[in-house]
Amino acid sequence: MKQSLIGFLKRLRIYYELQYLFRNTIISTHHFFLRRKYRSKKGQGFTCNFCGESYSGLVPEYPEEQDRNAIEKNNVIAGYGENVFCPTCFSTNRERLILAMLQNRIDVAGKTILHFAPERKIYEWLAPKAKVITADLETGFYKVIDKNIRCENITSLSFDSGIFDMVIANHVLEHVPDDAAAMKEIYRVLKPGGIAMLQVPFSETPGQTMEDVAIKNPAMQSALFGQKDHVRIYDLKDYISRLEKAGVKVTYCNDDNLAEFKKHAIQKGEGFLMITK
Ligand SMILES: [Zn+2]
Repeated sequence: MKQSLIGFLKRLRIYYELQYLFRNTIISTHHFFLRRKYRSKKGQGFTCNFCGESYSGLVPEYPEEQDRNAIEKNNVIAGYGENVFCPTCFSTNRERLILAMLQNRIDVAGKTILHFAPERKIYEWLAPKAKVITADLETGFYKVIDKNIRCENITSLSFDSGIFDMVIANHVLEHVPDDAAAMKEIYRVLKPGGIAMLQVPFSETPGQTMEDVAIKNPAMQSALFGQKDHVRIYDLKDYISRLEKAGVKVTYCNDDNLAEFKKHAIQKGEGFLMITK
């Protein structure tokens, strides 16, 4: 019954719009109460680099029950913890890290950028400054962010080689069974000297990437990889070596290198992978 209703709404081309409206209503109500709750923390401490507001503490987020074991047991840096959401604009710690790099370490003015699975806040910051092409395999969900989003499979892109100054695909590769093909494609479409931002959840403890791309059962994926649609947990060293195998150069900026951004409440333990062709 539910599937046939979804199919019917998709045929009418209003499914994603209704889904967005529904989610947005719930999220807006939730945000309204959070803003009130955090009013007393406003004024000093962490500063959100998207909206400029400061708070002594931001909104925490912890993994769902079914994901928790895999994340905690393997010490996965996946964006959870204290000080995740900004109470004013609801940016996340992982978005603030990306913005900090875009504002301070990477020149985007006039550049041609492929933005996969576009995060609204990052896309809206980039769009006035650069030529941004958005893409995803499932475009419906993202049409409200950019109505011109292209349907693209990251493992076989339709673009010519060497046309992008930058590719952004944050928290995407842990969903992709053939990540080697995706990395090769990203390398192919980048210009020489181009930059890729490809943050993923990672761990420094297993010593090897834990993966099983044959598992399609969401409950098993949650239990093993910490989210219902993930196919692996990357070991950081292995992730870097997979990227290097695709041809790119990787410089890992750890916590200490990013100390200047701590004021934006970046996740503890999350470094930034500066990936260049
Ligand atoms: Zn904010």
